[in-house]
Amino acid sequence: MTWRLHLVLVVLLPLVVISGLIGTGAKLPIPYFDREYVLRFLLPDYPGNGELPQIFGAEEKEAPLVVIDAGHGGRDPGAVGHGVMEKDITLTLALALRDELVREGSLRVALTREDDRLLTLKERPEIARQLGADLFISLHADSAGEQSELSGASIYTLSDRASSAAAVRFARRENDADRLNGITFEGQSAEVSAILVDLSQRRSQEQSGEFVELILREGEGVYDFISDAHRAADLMVLHAPDIPSVLFETGFVTNSEDAHRLTSPEGREGFVRMMTQAIRIYFARLSEV
Ligand SMILES: [Zn+2]
Repeated sequence: MTWRLHLVLVVLLPLVVISGLIGTGAKLPIPYFDREYVLRFLLPDYPGNGELPQIFGAEEKEAPLVVIDAGHGGRDPGAVGHGVMEKDITLTLALALRDELVREGSLRVALTREDDRLLTLKERPEIARQLGADLFISLHADSAGEQSELSGASIYTLSDRASSAAAVRFARRENDADRLNGITFEGQSAEVSAILVDLSQRRSQEQSGEFVELILREGEGVYDFISDAHRAADLMVLHAPDIPSVLFETGFVTNSEDAHRLTSPEGREGFVRMMTQAIRIYFARLSEV
């Protein structure tokens, strides 16, 4: 056998087999190392089917729109622990929060996914942007090894450095196509666009921070947060420059108390009450400005 053929068999053949399996939708076995761990997938980008999710709640078009994003879904279970999967926790919490906001009646609300399906990280904020969201909340649950005592929730906003970099990328990409906070980009020079995006991103950052502080205030004494619960990171779902966005890590599925809080009706009610209050106050303050 020539070395070329060797190369094909050793390097390319497994790749072809694996992509063939993925292409035909076959399930690849997931190794289980006798412990709970986070499953992470590298997913190809794919364009959404163009169908936007339904908006529930207030009839008035001017009513603020909250988009809730249930993390993970479909073949990406997220964190796994105590017999629960992150993708199920996030969807249940998202649906419960939506129902309460709809019942309360003054806001509009939509979910990025309403069932067990997979969305890419890019699609999630993009859905919020296309719907014209005023606030984006991505729900997640954390995982640590089963020996770990880690518990408690944390909330992420985009870090300043990541925020500036994301603004530059966004300005480049959207330069001649899009609108941002009502400002049309068309006809603007690249420099002006970049400045406008940066300003918009900074404003969104400020508002995201204010929203986090409200959640922490409303959750004090009623919801278990880790110390310094407001964190900053470069997370893809927080990249929309024109929508205040937070990622809420609601607790650790690997911690039994957290897992109970995340899956019990009482725990869910506490979460929904805290979030509804924070969201209501957030928009009430904005309307006063
Ligand atoms: Zn997650």
